[in-house]
Amino acid sequence: MSDSVKYLLSEKDLPKSWYNLAADLPEPLPPVLHPGTLKPIGPDDLAPLFPMSLIQQEVTTQRMIDIPKPVRDVYRQWRPSPLYRARRLEQALDTPARIYYKYEGVSPTGSHKPNTSVPQAYYNKEAGVKRLTTETGAGQWGSSLAFAGAHYGLEVKVFMVKVSYNHKPYRRFMMHAFGADVTASPSVETASGRAILEKDPDCLGSLGIAISEAVEIAAQRDDTKYSLGSVLNHVLLHQTVIGQEAIMQMEIAGDDPDIIVGCTGGGSNFAGIAFPFMGLHLRGGRKRRIIAVEPSACPSLTKGKLAYDFGDTAHLTPLVKMHTLGSTFVPPGFHAGGLRYHGMAPMVSHAAKLGLLEAVSFHQLECFAAGIQFAKAEGIIPAPEANHALRAGINEALRCKQEGKREVILINLSGHGHFDMQAYDDYFCGKLKDVAYDPKELAMALAGLPSVPAVA
Ligand SMILES: *Cc1c(COP(=O)(O)O)cnc(C)c1O
Repeated sequence: MSDSVKYLLSEKDLPKSWYNLAADLPEPLPPVLHPGTLKPIGPDDLAPLFPMSLIQQEVTTQRMIDIPKPVRDVYRQWRPSPLYRARRLEQALDTPARIYYKYEGVSPTGSHKPNTSVPQAYYNKEAGVKRLTTETGAGQWGSSLAFAGAHYGLEVKVFMVKVSYNHKPYRRFMMHAFGADVTASPSVETASGRAILEKDPDCLGSLGIAISEAVEIAAQRDDTKYSLGSVLNHVLLHQTVIGQEAIMQMEIAGDDPDIIVGCTGGGSNFAGIAFPFMGLHLRGGRKRRIIAVEPSACPSLTKGKLAYDFGDTAHLTPLVKMHTLGSTFVPPGFHAGGLRYHGMAPMVSHAAKLGLLEAVSFHQLECFAAGIQFAKAEGIIPAPEANHALRAGINEALRCKQEGKREVILINLSGHGHFDMQAYDDYFCGKLKDVAYDPKELAMALAGLPSVPAVA
């Protein structure tokens, strides 16, 4: 039998523009609201946090947005990324399905995140910004922004969720290597951090708290802006290089995916692979099954409410309409740190509401089992986040086996797991358990959703 097959594009095939799903949506996105007035915000309201070029990308409905040449030049270091046919996995599963995966682990920090950290740093540099603040959970986003900051000579200050700061030091060292300043969150450096620590000195932190701290610092100084690694429209936009390349690569492979699968934390890698295919459908093409996969312990799309909510714990951010577990919801500890956010990208939530995607959730043990089966067959150890996408993809392949169907499955492999080997060891030692969120805590967090008058 033949080995895995790799479909490469040449540098000249690197996409020249990003694809904006907003151009093709049959119903426009609900407006973003000001946290004080609850009225729709204008571009100026966001100016303390983001440069105008990124704010324009946040609100535009233009279909294709040019990728600046200097950004494409940095992308070239690892893009176009490879697409593989997972033949050995197909054989191991004994499935008639054909499985492909797009591999984003080839970037300098090992995930899809530099696809947006690089343009974000570029536009900030162009606007004369000197310093960027951000938050990070396990460190994937912090290390990606640190990499981009080093490239453009920007200072980067990262608030890292304290439990990860203490227990996952290697990505912290990576941020240091790129010259970033890393602070454990909650910290005494901000009013929002101090308020949390007064109530609970041992607080282990959350993404919502770290976002509050990073936003607070950015709003204080003119030379400092804030950068977010997922959720926002412009972040999803930047990730669409993934799906645009995959469309070309699937054509070269002579196959057309029936099913497209991605894991969802804030929704950016999923949108990256899925939105360009969704756009083909909305412009009159074929409708494919598009599956968003989330952890059962932090299930915003499958168990959350589609409602206006804050992006952070201290309620400093604007209100966006999204599937949310409530901004005070703190998920139980599990090993896919990149999937531990209380909300979902508004554009992914909107697509779900319009019936353009399906959402499923899995527990971590079954996801690790899928990741190890994949690693044995394909030789790549996936990030724990990506294991969720693999679980769903493998389940679809097994369904095809039962039904005798030769469907084509495309999975986004968002990153490698080389910094997550402790989690794999915990799995092998039997220390890893499935964890459930506390339904009482979810009910409380949902009861605390802000009440918002109906908006036009
Ligand atoms: C951050 C991260 C995710 C989750 O973030 P999204 O915005 O949902 O893509 C998934 N996979 C990896 C490898 C990550 O680093």
